[in-house]
Amino acid sequence: MSSTKEVRVRFAPSPTGELHVGNIRTALFDWAYARHTGGRFVFRIEDTDTDRVTDEYIQAALGTLRWLGLEWDEGPEVGGPYGPYLQSQRLDIYAKYAQQFLDTGFAYHCYCSAEELEAVREAQRAANNAPGYNAHCRNLTPEQVAEYLTLGRKPVVRMLMPEGSTTFTDLIRGEVSFDHNFVPDFVLARNDGSPLYTLAVAVDDVLMKITHVLRGEDLLSSTPRQIRVYQAMGVAPEDYPLFAHLPFVMGQDNAKLSKRNGEVSIAWYREAGYLPEAICNYLALLGWSPGEDREDVTMQELVELFTVERVHSSPARFDMKKLEAINGDKIRALTPEAFLNWSLPFLTRAGVITGRESEVALVKLALPIIQERITTLAEIPPMLKFLFTQDFAVAQDSLSKIADEQSKKVLQVSLDRLTSLAEWSHEGIEGVLRAALIEELALKPRVAFGAVRIAVTGSHISPPLFESMELLGKEKSLERIKASL
Ligand code: GLU
Repeated sequence: MSSTKEVRVRFAPSPTGELHVGNIRTALFDWAYARHTGGRFVFRIEDTDTDRVTDEYIQAALGTLRWLGLEWDEGPEVGGPYGPYLQSQRLDIYAKYAQQFLDTGFAYHCYCSAEELEAVREAQRAANNAPGYNAHCRNLTPEQVAEYLTLGRKPVVRMLMPEGSTTFTDLIRGEVSFDHNFVPDFVLARNDGSPLYTLAVAVDDVLMKITHVLRGEDLLSSTPRQIRVYQAMGVAPEDYPLFAHLPFVMGQDNAKLSKRNGEVSIAWYREAGYLPEAICNYLALLGWSPGEDREDVTMQELVELFTVERVHSSPARFDMKKLEAINGDKIRALTPEAFLNWSLPFLTRAGVITGRESEVALVKLALPIIQERITTLAEIPPMLKFLFTQDFAVAQDSLSKIADEQSKKVLQVSLDRLTSLAEWSHEGIEGVLRAALIEELALKPRVAFGAVRIAVTGSHISPPLFESMELLGKEKSLERIKASL
């Protein structure tokens, strides 16, 4: 390929559900490669399977890419010179090529019924032969065709795979070769004229002038068929797109990642409080590495450092713990404003605040004391709830933990000493409680402060105790200790 050719990379999902981790890893690499090379990132929706791809899923896919910051240069909503970018709006183009391939002898009409095809497969299975179409309709006589037509059969369009093999250089795997004995003649268009994936994907990659196809390894075996379509279209080999098949993403159990062995929907991560930059950082590491054992990359660094040479061919293992750790790091790296902006929707959705100015002001004060301690944004509402509840009450099971004599003593002493504390600051609160509980009563901090924590926040897990009490205020803190007693 000449070096002056503009790089054009496409992400071409068939949204038959929410985009999942594997799709997004592909989208991220496509995007990063386009940005790294100064090329164009093309987003195409492969929705010819109208039974399974719904408008709702398409809209969700657009939303997910936008949320992740993977803006596209051409595609739905933004348009571009090679549109439309929804395959369902390009059906006449595929029909035209199917007809052209029939006319030029690259393809033929196949009249076999589903039962006949099944019988062929059954015989192949019985004989232990590779499954696939037996080329029955390749050379029908006009009489045979006439007979099928009188029977009312409507043909599919089938591509003829010639003897031989297809060899291409995969940018990640090196030279890959497919013997056509294992690539049977395949269907391009159904008998209602609708195109199949292989026809639509190959035609569009050519017409949209795609130079690089970075996609999942599961599509490796469809490549010789796509190359056959390029040949039928008359594309010169030097103009074929270059292929790079990304390694599988496996679950912890080494099986292919799926709903069964991991959480795969990006929408789920979004709701669970993962930041887009954490998801992108983590997914970037699934099959690629920035080198030097680094694990943290910003989007900008990903663009700078991303090369296909650094993509591995061996499968990547999805590791939820690592994603959590990265998410925690990215949360800690947020500016106070950004952290506030991410937090507010979680707090309102959970019903902890309604969004009043006074509430937001208190959230702003509270966030610094939890920013270091959380790994997902979803942890924020339960942590800050104690500051906002009107009808505060310690839950029964927590209450039972402070019902013993020692806890009562701790609470009584705390109440007495704090009542006379003039300046309600976390340093002041800490000083008073340490002197009374640790020094005078000689209690262990966990025992002493644990009881106060439950009384004041309602839970044994909370932000740092003294800061929490400072934020809650003297009146409410003492009221709650009293109520517990
Ligand atoms: N539409 C295909 C899919 O979602 C991918 C097409 C491609 O990348 O070649 O599986």
